[in-house]
Amino acid sequence: MVEATHDVLVVGAGCAGMRAAIEAHDAGADVAVISKLHPTRSHSGAAEGGINAALGNAADDDPETHAFDTVKGSDYLGDQDSIEVFTREAPEDIIQLEHWGAFFSRREDGKLAQRPFGAAGSPRTIYAADITGHVLIQVLYEQLVKRDIRVYEEWFAWRLVENDGRCQGVICWDLMNGGVKLVAGKTVVLATGGAGRLYRATTNAYACTGDGMAMALRLGLPLKDMEFMQFHPTTLFPSGILLTEGCRGEGAYLINSEGERFMQRYAPNAMELASRDVVSRSEQTEIDQGRGVNGSVLLDMRHLGAEKIIERLPGSRELSLVFAGVDPIHDPVPVRPGAHYHMGGVATDTDGLTELTGLYAAGEVACVSVHGANRLGGNSLMETITFGRRAGRAAAEWAQSHTTIDVPASAVADAEREVRTLLDREEGERPWQIRDELGSTMLENFGVFRREHQMAKQIEIIDGLRERYGNVVVEDKGNVFNNDLTQAIELGYLLDLAACMLQAGIARKESRGAHSRPDDYPDRDDENFLKHSITRWNGDGPELSYEEVRMTRWTPQERKY
Ligand SMILES: Cc1cc2nc3c(=O)[nH]c(=O)nc-3n(C[C@H](O)[C@H](O)[C@H](O)COP(=O)(O)OP(=O)(O)OC[C@H]3O[C@@H](n4cnc5c(N)ncnc54)[C@H](O)[C@@H]3O)c2cc1C
Repeated sequence: MVEATHDVLVVGAGCAGMRAAIEAHDAGADVAVISKLHPTRSHSGAAEGGINAALGNAADDDPETHAFDTVKGSDYLGDQDSIEVFTREAPEDIIQLEHWGAFFSRREDGKLAQRPFGAAGSPRTIYAADITGHVLIQVLYEQLVKRDIRVYEEWFAWRLVENDGRCQGVICWDLMNGGVKLVAGKTVVLATGGAGRLYRATTNAYACTGDGMAMALRLGLPLKDMEFMQFHPTTLFPSGILLTEGCRGEGAYLINSEGERFMQRYAPNAMELASRDVVSRSEQTEIDQGRGVNGSVLLDMRHLGAEKIIERLPGSRELSLVFAGVDPIHDPVPVRPGAHYHMGGVATDTDGLTELTGLYAAGEVACVSVHGANRLGGNSLMETITFGRRAGRAAAEWAQSHTTIDVPASAVADAEREVRTLLDREEGERPWQIRDELGSTMLENFGVFRREHQMAKQIEIIDGLRERYGNVVVEDKGNVFNNDLTQAIELGYLLDLAACMLQAGIARKESRGAHSRPDDYPDRDDENFLKHSITRWNGDGPELSYEEVRMTRWTPQERKY
């Protein structure tokens, strides 16, 4: 039975999903949002440091400079048409957010303040102290409520429904009451966020399990650039909680066990504000060569002084106090690289349209591709807003010019059978064991540095884990908040995505952005690998091909830091 029918169904209620829903509503469509979490608990709320747009308030800046920085930061793998759209439209989107009530930090003259971030040619990161994501998520939720947009809250989207060559709905599991539900839509916008939970050490919340990517993959859609997982250089030891790049933007240093500001050996010009891939590799090298402290390096903010730390970085201070027992006013904080952001995702055009009619994607689930092989800090929140808006508009326009929805009754019956199979199994392995092994082996064998023998080993490990997953047992047989069931489903998603990442990683015989092969292919190889990897699911495994990078103005330059 179809639960409800809408013009536009947005799956995910983070910054990308809510921005898409608002835009689709304002374009005249009947919109609903499906989210496994309450919207304000979405992971976007954890974003700290800021959001990039070339306002030029702190120094000369313009969209072209922002575009060039993004292209260069992407190690030339970003699609330049997407990047130009992004940097051109970002400033207006910031003004819109400000008019909706986002209380960004300001300068003395009343203009929005902008701070320096890594690999940015100008201080262009707009911020609300170090709780920018929290502010954005509240503002967007207010706009959602103001428009009375329906939210299927705590509904777990599980499968996309394709019929007649179109995406026409989503099969969900109702977390609060139990039961399989089908919501139909003329168009669907995926905004389900990233997949950091593939790794044991990650800044990502428990909910970041790549569901949207895996749902699209299982429907036969292509994922793009899956090998590129960004490691953030400053995650707290041992929890993996992020300390924003804003700390280094405000002047914090990185030091090793000898008290040396080691970035001068790796990136003498940009120092701590080199791009994230460079800083993470430098830290990992220090740790691997014995100049770390307990598997970490140290982030030193003491010279900033108490006043600046308390005013500009209050959240980072609190996190350090609570989760590392260190007050950065008095002592350096132990940090290490942690999995942070997936540059890969569902391939889309600049309106968020995927290969399948009626299906759109925006935010971290998508690969549009603005970030290429390495994302610049502050560009992701902006991407969620600008491309969330564009996807919402495009989905609404398509829905309003098409009238029919036709979802086969068998879709629900198939889903119910699948849940029954999982719930009826009485013996087998518990999912958490497989999840733990996946997280720790991904970190070990497919982390900051990648080595041929480790990747080959990880492919075998994933094959083994996937086989074991076939016999996984869900102990909770109930209907109400059965997290045991949904976590088992999420694990299946993570395993599929890991297989895609490894296949693309071992085949990319070069070092570019977040994909670093120091032993066998230490250099970027534009002749053979200036191309996107494209992964489809073929029966029982991933299948790899390549696609040209869309280049408009900038040709690759030698790397200098
Ligand atoms: C700690 C941290 C700090 C960051 N700081 C910054 C920063 O300062 N600047 C910046 O630019 N970027 C930052 N980033 C990156 C940025 O915050 C994220 O990439 C971005 O917020 C992702 O937004 P999203 O809307 O795509 O996904 P999310 O905010 O993760 O939202 C995903 C939504 O999808 C829903 N969902 C997922 N799966 C399902 C399912 N199966 N069924 C139903 N609903 C589902 C969830 O409930 C949620 O509502 C940071 C990331 C982290 C982890």
